[in-house]
Amino acid sequence: EPDPTLRPEQRPGDADRALRPQVLDEFIGQAEARANLKIFIESARQRGEAMDHALFHGPPGLGKTTLAQIMSRELGVNFRMTSGPVLAKAGDLAAILTNLEPRDVLFIDEIHRLSPVVEEILYPALEDFELDLVIGEGPAARTVRIELQPFTLVGATTRLGLLTTPLRDRFGIPIRLQFYSVDELHEIVSRGARLMGIPAETDGIREIARRARGTPRIAGRLLRRVVDFAVVEGNGKLTRAIADNALSRLGVDHLGLDGADRRYLSLIAENYMGGPVGVETLSAALSESRDALEEVIEPFLLQQGLIQRTPRGRMLAQKAWSHLGMSAPKPAGQ
Ligand code: ADP
Repeated sequence: EPDPTLRPEQRPGDADRALRPQVLDEFIGQAEARANLKIFIESARQRGEAMDHALFHGPPGLGKTTLAQIMSRELGVNFRMTSGPVLAKAGDLAAILTNLEPRDVLFIDEIHRLSPVVEEILYPALEDFELDLVIGEGPAARTVRIELQPFTLVGATTRLGLLTTPLRDRFGIPIRLQFYSVDELHEIVSRGARLMGIPAETDGIREIARRARGTPRIAGRLLRRVVDFAVVEGNGKLTRAIADNALSRLGVDHLGLDGADRRYLSLIAENYMGGPVGVETLSAALSESRDALEEVIEPFLLQQGLIQRTPRGRMLAQKAWSHLGMSAPKPAGQ
């Protein structure tokens, strides 16, 4: 009998949270990052100090927030969460920092989007656990120094290249998250189905894992949608046929590409003879922001060897031509 608190009709946010691994040993994949973090966490615990600041970078949905939460739990401290765009004024950050308890983990998502004034006051906070605040304006303005509790900043970004060098240099522990292998996603989907109380065939799980774009968040989302189909159109069991049918109807193809991915590839194939074509041109033609192309669409296409990045722009690789069922144009003069 499926767990009624985890039925597919629940809001995705809730289900997302329910599937979130709670401890490092439950976290699947990212073996290298996990092994390193284990040491840093254990060392900080034994020394009774705040762990060094960590920077997680990589495409969305790979587990940056989840890992940061796990860190705080394993360190036995509070988890505070905010994001770059939310911290508009220096006072916003000051309010959070002055409320931290010793050794707390402060998670700042999208840290590449911090405003320069906020970034400025963050530096001494990170280095010396001190805050220099300017009070008042004009000739009457003065600086007050506030001592902070030692804390651990965990920054997350999808765009390492957009971080200023001084900010990047203040993280003692930079960690790059990788796309997950099909085997790892298989484990994640299998665990998800178990937590949802859904009986599942191995082949059904595999089908979702293969088509999840290397990303646990997408795996979780696809699992919930496939379960919807299994409940309504099947007998509640997650089979390979149900998964295949549901995923195809959702526009997710055999490589896990969705409509946006295929539009991107087709555009380069059909309008630019396979490229090279600049990212700005693609962004205008697809009506997608350049950020969305560079943060969400391209990393997976690159990792899959479907496109290449050259100094003159993006180019389709042979695998993309085959995937589109097209043949690459012959070079001129042949
Ligand atoms: P990010 O912060 O990188 O965008 P999140 O930490 O929010 O990603 O993870 C997205 C979702 O994927 C979460 O709901 C979490 O449950 C799931 N998830 C991420 N990594 C794993 C993992 N290694 N094992 C199981 N589930 C994971």
